[in-house]
Amino acid sequence: MIFFTGCPLHCRYCQNRQISGSDGMDIGIEVSDEDLMRLMLSLEEDGAATLNLVTGTHFIPSIIRAIKEARARGFSLPVVWNSSGYERVEALAEIDGYIDIYLLDCKTLSHRTASIFCGRETYADAIVPVLEAVKAWHPRTDLERMKGTILRHLVFPGEIEATKDFLRLFGARYKDSFFLSLMTQFVPPLGNPGFKPMTEEEYDSLVDLLEVYGIDDGFIQDPSDDDILWIPDFTKDVPFPASFADPDPFFLSLKHR
Ligand code: SF4
Repeated sequence: MIFFTGCPLHCRYCQNRQISGSDGMDIGIEVSDEDLMRLMLSLEEDGAATLNLVTGTHFIPSIIRAIKEARARGFSLPVVWNSSGYERVEALAEIDGYIDIYLLDCKTLSHRTASIFCGRETYADAIVPVLEAVKAWHPRTDLERMKGTILRHLVFPGEIEATKDFLRLFGARYKDSFFLSLMTQFVPPLGNPGFKPMTEEEYDSLVDLLEVYGIDDGFIQDPSDDDILWIPDFTKDVPFPASFADPDPFFLSLKHR
């Protein structure tokens, strides 16, 4: 994975707030296009299965230059575009030819929910054109061949109706094109411990809806699994648990140069 500093959204609950800017923090290191290209090559040499680009929307021109050059040097990993979906279709069209898997959020279709949790009510307007474009470009998902789209949706506390609206749309428009990842890992934002976790009944009602809408390709988190409630610490050389990731030696050399 390569995480990019900054994010077009400022979600109050962001688990990557140390790098996304949600809390006014912007941990990261400045790299050139060539450094980025070499980092891609280094990840492949380390044995990575994919190149997972996390929240790179605002660096699309640099990322394209780096992938092009890396490909010219033999880089062959499938590329994953891991983003909030809060981006322009024209920008995605530029980079689409370099993307194998879209790992996109559809956080909400509700202006109110977007305003409360994402800090931008316009998210609800921006996301559907993106989903429609990605569906038109990649009408089928085949994870064996590393092609297609996994659409993530995080259940926000107290907003179960918004999740039901999303599932209705997913069942009607996207279930034959995308895989669903239904996530329950909401962690309350700092200083706002008052959010009530999802109840078992609410969780069961969502699982029932998957059947009602015929959604059977994808993943769903079990909220009783405590392991999902960890938060990366980007002040460390290895922000994730050791069982999740090894540090890339080239990145460490850039970080400590
Ligand atoms: S879109 Fe993701 S990375 Fe960006 S602020 Fe929201 S939760 Fe954080």
